[in-house]
Amino acid sequence: MVRVITVQDISQLLKKVTLKTFFLKLIDQLNSDYSRWGEFQKSPRHATHVPDGVIELMPISDKEYYSFKYVNGHPNNTRQNKQTVIATGQLALVESGYPVLISEMTVLTAIRTAATSAMVSRYLARKNAKTFGIIGCGAQSEFQVLAHHFALDIQEIYYFDTDPHAMEKFAANLKPYRLKMHPCTDGRSIVEKCDIVTTATAQKGRHKIVETDWVKKGCHLNKIGGDTPGKTELEASLLKKCKIVVELLEQTRVEGEIQQVKNSPVYAEIWELATGQKKGRESETEITLFDSVGFAIEDYSVLRLVHRLAEEHHVGHQLDMIPHTPDPKNLFGVIATSRS
Ligand code: NAD
Repeated sequence: MVRVITVQDISQLLKKVTLKTFFLKLIDQLNSDYSRWGEFQKSPRHATHVPDGVIELMPISDKEYYSFKYVNGHPNNTRQNKQTVIATGQLALVESGYPVLISEMTVLTAIRTAATSAMVSRYLARKNAKTFGIIGCGAQSEFQVLAHHFALDIQEIYYFDTDPHAMEKFAANLKPYRLKMHPCTDGRSIVEKCDIVTTATAQKGRHKIVETDWVKKGCHLNKIGGDTPGKTELEASLLKKCKIVVELLEQTRVEGEIQQVKNSPVYAEIWELATGQKKGRESETEITLFDSVGFAIEDYSVLRLVHRLAEEHHVGHQLDMIPHTPDPKNLFGVIATSRS
């Protein structure tokens, strides 16, 4: 039997453990998994580029577990009332190769991306950071805000989207959290005001969602929308001013903001911060950038956490996704009764 987790199951699990607890546990899990970087067999994800987007497979394993995620990125999908990013994933035992968990991962991707952003913000943002700005109020946006609210006690939010409906939805979803909310009319005012800025737009092509001159000293930028070849969010000259942290350099060179500048200097991979081999922020004035594209270890972390919590709280469905037969060589026996 394999535990199967649907979207409804994730919602039920989050109600049981609370979103805040889940985020905080996941940040701990991410930190601990990134700290044992050397124990993982890893590679850049496998990307299939299609006319309107990208479809990716993201595998990784350590000695005990193997995980992979199927995920897409289709920025024009919302025009047809479809989501930009959809994902499903699997966790399996390395010793036998048997799957133990199959899960929805659209919600989990938003949660793990936001948790990773908040974990890196803890290393790179100023300790006294109070204001958080977000450009792009789509599917990822509330998760980004709440991860920073829970992990860094951020209370004041500035937000902008070219789509007024997305801004209304964003404000309505966050109302129960009683944050100080400031709708803005452009990205510039957000970048000029905020201590931490997330860019989460979805458009193909090279864009200047953040321009170099707007960024004040001491700002931490968390860019998540520039995540495939030819799809970027920051003005290229800004990269020279930033201390840059990435997930897996080999993957980010191809997919992240740094694809814009050949051999752009990169300060660290996340694992170097998690192990303490490199310091995070070193002064109040430096500008820091997390050039996030999403890496498989983050999917591994969230699947491990969901697996553990789902067992503990009896969430999910045990389904016969693996044939069970007393004689392992008699696979045919499983279907033998359905002769025609
Ligand atoms: P979405 O389509 O739901 O939302 C994107 C929003 O950006 C939309 O509301 C759109 O109106 C807005 N937008 C577009 N251009 C804009 C502009 N110039 N200024 C302001 N707003 C603008 O997409 P989503 O699921 O929220 O994903 C956002 C981005 O994050 C995508 O590019 C996606 O590929 C990326 N992503 C990255 C990671 C990661 O790990 N780094 C994970 C998930 C998603």
